[in-house]
Amino acid sequence: MSHAKLFSPSKAEGWFACAGRAVLESGIPDKSSGYSDDGTARHDVCAVCLTPPESNARDWVDRATSNGVVYKADWVDEDQDYIDTVRAMAVGGVLFVEQKVDFRRFIECTDPDDGFGTGDAVILKPLVDDTYELVVIDRKTGYHEVAVERNKQLLLYALGAYDEHSLVYDIRRVRLVIHQRSAREWDCSVEDLLAFGKEARSRAITVINAVSMHGKVEQAEWERTFLNQHPSEDACRYCKAMATCPSMQSFVQSTVGADFEAMATGEAVIDPEKVNEPDKLPLQMSAAGLIEDWIKAVRAEVERRLLAGTDVPGWKLVLGKAGARAWRDAEVAEATLKSMRLKVEDMYDLKVISPTSAEKLTKAPEGAKPRIGKRQWASLQAHITRSDPKPSVAPEADKRDRYTPPNVADDFNAEADPASSLC
Ligand code: SF4
Repeated sequence: MSHAKLFSPSKAEGWFACAGRAVLESGIPDKSSGYSDDGTARHDVCAVCLTPPESNARDWVDRATSNGVVYKADWVDEDQDYIDTVRAMAVGGVLFVEQKVDFRRFIECTDPDDGFGTGDAVILKPLVDDTYELVVIDRKTGYHEVAVERNKQLLLYALGAYDEHSLVYDIRRVRLVIHQRSAREWDCSVEDLLAFGKEARSRAITVINAVSMHGKVEQAEWERTFLNQHPSEDACRYCKAMATCPSMQSFVQSTVGADFEAMATGEAVIDPEKVNEPDKLPLQMSAAGLIEDWIKAVRAEVERRLLAGTDVPGWKLVLGKAGARAWRDAEVAEATLKSMRLKVEDMYDLKVISPTSAEKLTKAPEGAKPRIGKRQWASLQAHITRSDPKPSVAPEADKRDRYTPPNVADDFNAEADPASSLC
């Protein structure tokens, strides 16, 4: 059986937690989403901007990038912040952009096509007495916030970068930086980095064992030994095998308290003892995200199989409604409408621009005059309104402040102030 890369740094959270993942994912095609294509385009532009002759993000607006995606004006502010962050951190140091980082030595990987990645930016920054700090910076454009503390992808990059540079530079400290909307960082010592290298080696050996033992021991035993017995959102989120993974199936069945057959036939039996257990809502809420991910994965896998012509008993493909009507050729339609002598307001959907679009007109390239001046923008701002933010449920550890609904706050105040009940 052939496998894709076993030790991809971007999937390190997965292969550290689940040695058997690569075996289960084997043969399931990758999906390229519009979002990942956009992310690649933004990475490429940032890399080009940081490479001599240097440029800035705004120079790329409306230009096609290396993967054919047209660079959007909306991306400029955040990407420029990353570019400026890297430039500021590199002052006085040595900057490597899009550096190949090879960490095979640490995990004893002998496959020449595996065990390496590309660091978005690697900096060797002088400390004192000819010693250096290794800075590894990763640009993230996804919506899901990625933690920087002990981030395995960055630690693997740091191992590779350390291997590459430690003969020339006396590296004493390691700084990991994730730029996702803004920069966040975490420091560790070289000793901590090398200790992580040992942990990575031990996990890598288990992954190799999972691959070599598959099909050679009883399947149930293999699953018990090599699949993560405690699936979690962090470890399983991007696993292509989630829909069919036995470990996930056990997790869902034990959380829901019934097997799939009983659920599918409506014969799931309610255990009165379990119903009377103390409030399980907090636990169920903790499991909800992973179960939602699993449901999406199951739907996607059934659709993928049906589209590929594979039978899924009890399910079929149907066609939904046709899309909204559109002009086949907008210019021809416009000319035809003009020939009908329609008024402008009848012919065009005219709509005033949004505050966001108006704000963009307050900016202009260096030396040019913005379409909307500072005083004009100040007067426009008086006409801007926005809806109140809506409350949503978040884990206790979320960094945002706790929100107390006004009706709850009133009840609380009324209880705290006995005089209020006399009114
Ligand atoms: S879904 Fe299954 S195979 Fe995939 S990482 Fe989680 S436990 Fe491993």
